[in-house]
Amino acid sequence: MERNPNKSVEEHPRTFRELERTTLGDIGITARLIERFEVMGIHSVLDLLRLYPRRLHDRSNITPLTDIEVGVEATVFGSVEKCELKTGRNNKKRVEVILRNGDARLRVTFFNQVWRQKELAPDTEVAMFGKVDSFGGSLQMVNPIVDVLGKAGEGKTGRIIAVYPQSAKAGLSSWDIAPAVAKALEWVGEFYEPLDEALRSPLKLGKIDRTKAFNDIHGVPSIEDHRQAERRLRFDEFLVAQIGLVARKRALQASDAGIKHQIGGPLVKEFLTNLPFKMTDDQSTAIAEINQDLATAAPMHRLLQGDVGSGKTVVALAAMLTAVEGGYQSAMMAPTEVLAEQLYAVASRTIGVLKVPSPDGVLLSEQEVGVRLLTNRTKARERAAIADGLRDGTIHIVIGTHALLYGESPFTNLGVIVIDEHHRFGVEQRDVLKQRAVAGRVPDVLVMTATPIPRTAALLIYGDLDISTLKVMPSGRQPITTELLKRETVAVGAAYQRARDEVKNGHQVYVVCPLVEDSGKIEAAAATKRAEELGNTEFKGLNVGLLHGQMPSAEKEKIMNSFRSKEIDVLVATTVIEVGVDVPNATVMVIEDAQRFGLAQLHQLRGRVGRGGGASWCYLIADVTTKDAAARMEAMVETTDGFVLADRDLEIRGTGQIFGERQSGQSIDKHLRLARLPRDIKYVEFARTTAELILDSDPDLAHHRPLAEEVEDLLGDDVEYLFKS
Ligand code: ADP
Ligand code: MG
Repeated sequence: MERNPNKSVEEHPRTFRELERTTLGDIGITARLIERFEVMGIHSVLDLLRLYPRRLHDRSNITPLTDIEVGVEATVFGSVEKCELKTGRNNKKRVEVILRNGDARLRVTFFNQVWRQKELAPDTEVAMFGKVDSFGGSLQMVNPIVDVLGKAGEGKTGRIIAVYPQSAKAGLSSWDIAPAVAKALEWVGEFYEPLDEALRSPLKLGKIDRTKAFNDIHGVPSIEDHRQAERRLRFDEFLVAQIGLVARKRALQASDAGIKHQIGGPLVKEFLTNLPFKMTDDQSTAIAEINQDLATAAPMHRLLQGDVGSGKTVVALAAMLTAVEGGYQSAMMAPTEVLAEQLYAVASRTIGVLKVPSPDGVLLSEQEVGVRLLTNRTKARERAAIADGLRDGTIHIVIGTHALLYGESPFTNLGVIVIDEHHRFGVEQRDVLKQRAVAGRVPDVLVMTATPIPRTAALLIYGDLDISTLKVMPSGRQPITTELLKRETVAVGAAYQRARDEVKNGHQVYVVCPLVEDSGKIEAAAATKRAEELGNTEFKGLNVGLLHGQMPSAEKEKIMNSFRSKEIDVLVATTVIEVGVDVPNATVMVIEDAQRFGLAQLHQLRGRVGRGGGASWCYLIADVTTKDAAARMEAMVETTDGFVLADRDLEIRGTGQIFGERQSGQSIDKHLRLARLPRDIKYVEFARTTAELILDSDPDLAHHRPLAEEVEDLLGDDVEYLFKS
């Protein structure tokens, strides 16, 4: 591209930060347009340059109106000759357009799109893509995809036309955007290039510097040039994210602010020997990996991921006990009271019976490991007792909910923190717990999740964490048969029959009621009604219990206890039972209106059965109307492997949801304009290696200041301390 010869004095390679701080006014965009760009969230020159074309039209690929055929999909090109709103039978409105190109004409009809009348005023130039059919003997297109290109005769030349995302709300069309972008490109001249050719060449991007990339992605000299440019800029998006994550990880590893725990002590050994089962290889490996982290002065920052039922709890308890054995305290936080109580029960049973030296100094005197539960229902007096116990050394482990985060910190010497189902918590909540350590050392943190994340996505979102994975399931797990049933069919009756038979055999059943988005109240009411209904029909004569999110905690606990003690045969519940609930005697899971649930959620729900010795069933009663829902149901029926399901989920939904699990994930997601997983796996991995290479030779990015700025602008305050300026 030609550089503007008049600005040589000022001309220098522009960095992203500079472009971020240059307003549209600075480069001479008119106030009228600036106002409209603002509505689209475009404030800076960088925002504008990162508004990429949505589609390209290659004029040489456009079918002349004289050549189109019935039944074939085609892109046609022309200007609007006539556009009329017509009313048909039943008062149905349609917009009829006559498109003209030279002497040829084509009728285009839009149903249910009355607004097209305004958009397609006579003399508007458009490209339309759709299937050609015939009507009353002549050819026509119905409801094609439309790109408005401008006013006829305004001289859009060039073989390829780039179409920008238009915004009706902002009143901005593609032909408003294109000249503004061109203006920005001219103003910039040369872009700062953070990567030398050698670093770019492995992805065959050696020749594509940023200046070429930005000019080609917008200017589109050819489709191939545009694709190359897209590849380069996509790579840059991943690279900046990876530099932030790798730098954060390295900073943590280099820190000596943590605690050096004593590992391999007799208490943990005893705990493991007492377990009624043999550890899986993956559990042993995870414990070894965690031990390595615990033994060093760098604070642990590890994610333990494993499918539902893979046995994460014992791994976590072993880590907590290691802290206790060395004289430190340990805390475990769960997202719900039901779960906290369950973890507390397991911990008391397995850890609470072990002996540690008594703090009173009496030689050879011993006491049991002190384990306590702290939730919103814990009375002030018990809270005080827990604080006292932590202070005088008689309490070592506290298991709880969010309640652990509020009030004065009871901990005096916190060594290990475990956060179960961590994606249920916000980042700040997890940090608060870390700040509750008062000994001046940063405690080691283990976060756990039962929603496996595909490897590449994990590199992107958790790229700053170490990851341990439990892939092998404990042996003796019984298969779960999953069936998809259409609502109100005979098969549904058979499913309930199976449920009754299982109750007769001494087992228990879950029925999950439909998800009601954003309304716990309506959901609770529906579940209440459904429990009553089922109690009077399918499950007449059985003990039907009800569990929903709007119940007081005491009530929830009572119900869960009755279910555990088998007083309740059938538990009708909302998704409050989704995470972690462990009742091995339950063998049937019925999910009503399963199409409303996401794949991860369905998998979690199914994980409530198949935990005991018996075979189990999961029935998905669904009304499948969308392609995505069909794909989810099919995946559920096909496999019970959470890792396979995670891959599928990524294919079906893209990254948005997974990124949502982490706050920094969300800013990364917003930053990734051109990126798409799983398509771009190769880029993620290459970006990772490149980030490592750059940081190996320039750990503080002292020689890559503009790149450091890009990372800071992406990840915010989080990383500001990483790169000293
Ligand atoms: P999750 O990973 O979903 O949190 P849990 O830790 O709750 O799984 O374990 C599920 C069940 O499996 C528990 O009842 C636990 O006691 C049991 N369990 C854990 N590890 C093993 C093992 N190695 N062999 C057999 N059973 C195990
Ligand atoms: Mg668990």
